[in-house]
Amino acid sequence: MESLEFEFHALPWNVVFGNKASRRLPHFINQLGFKKVLVISTPGQAERAQVIAASLGDLCAGTFTGARMHVPADTVGQALEKVKQTGADCSVTIGGGSTTGLGKILALKADLPFIAIPTTYAGSEMTNIWGMTEGGKKQTGRDTKVVPLLTIYDPELTLDLPPPIAGPSGINAMAQAVVNVMTEKPNPIIAALAEDAIRVLAANLPIVVKEPHNGQARARVLYGACLAGAALGSGVTGIHHRLCHVLGGGFDTPHADTHAILLPYTVAFNSGAVPDGAGRVAAALNAEDAARGVFDLLKATGCKTSLQQIGIKASDLDDIAARAVQTPCANPRPVTLDGVRQLLQNAFEGSLSP
Ligand code: NAD
Repeated sequence: MESLEFEFHALPWNVVFGNKASRRLPHFINQLGFKKVLVISTPGQAERAQVIAASLGDLCAGTFTGARMHVPADTVGQALEKVKQTGADCSVTIGGGSTTGLGKILALKADLPFIAIPTTYAGSEMTNIWGMTEGGKKQTGRDTKVVPLLTIYDPELTLDLPPPIAGPSGINAMAQAVVNVMTEKPNPIIAALAEDAIRVLAANLPIVVKEPHNGQARARVLYGACLAGAALGSGVTGIHHRLCHVLGGGFDTPHADTHAILLPYTVAFNSGAVPDGAGRVAAALNAEDAARGVFDLLKATGCKTSLQQIGIKASDLDDIAARAVQTPCANPRPVTLDGVRQLLQNAFEGSLSP
């Protein structure tokens, strides 16, 4: 038997999970000693941000409802200005990964601590990964400073997340878990979190899409996203995240859909290199084969299954492959131009073989 050797470095996570937990926000703000809260959301969630702001009364210093996908630099500039104007001593982000992402950048650039209230399954609130887009290029990095001081998961806030957003969002979370089971040397603690994430997401995401108001399934998927984000936060990425990064940054493809579409093909790409990990993913999916299991789950959750469906053209594939291999990419199967080009061809056609 192989000797058991690993390192595990936890992030400073603080989590409160439960229906109506977000109503306890004023209590947590008082407990943490903050006096001037800036509430942040996307324009689509502005009404919800106002409800949160009202619940805070005098503790609220203002709202910023201009968060946008991929955290554009001009949005960051506007938000920093708002922090200055209001003299905020913390922020509360309510929304998906785009909103959490802005809270992270304010934590990084202005040392503004934040509390995250996630309303999608992005899982980013559990990671130390930040991202910001400037001049068409998305820059990312890892820093413990961007981990929220507290994350409040309130599954009731996800009941209105529409199925076409919920499906890909849940698979986005699953990707974070899958890559941390299918690694050359899985970290046993991270893999345990990740396998449970895959099991919970696979069992409950199809229910959420069919019965959006099923509170129990909603809570379980949100919990799965929390576990998956934790796995990514202290774990690794590989060719899957590299390709999503190239597509999102260079071709402006929608974040969660890109992850969902690519996942079966990146799993198929790596399966031969890490058969044990692939077997464990298949078992967690309750499927015979990991890649096929993910592909079937995409269909069961109404997700798109090919890059053509999100506007990628056949003539883009060479360019995407070249960009993906421009710098070395740690991945269980060596990343070659030909290998990635074939992976992209399969993902373009929506065909799992060869
Ligand atoms: P998003 O935050 O852009 O949300 C998608 C849409 O759903 C938005 O229009 C939003 O207003 C709406 N929405 C959110 N919650 C809702 C609810 N409960 N009901 C109805 N509508 C709701 O998308 P996302 O997929 O959550 O996040 C994508 C972003 O997160 C990307 O920028 C990505 O880079 C980032 N991300 C980062 C990490 C990380 O670890 N740093 C991980 C995953 C994603």
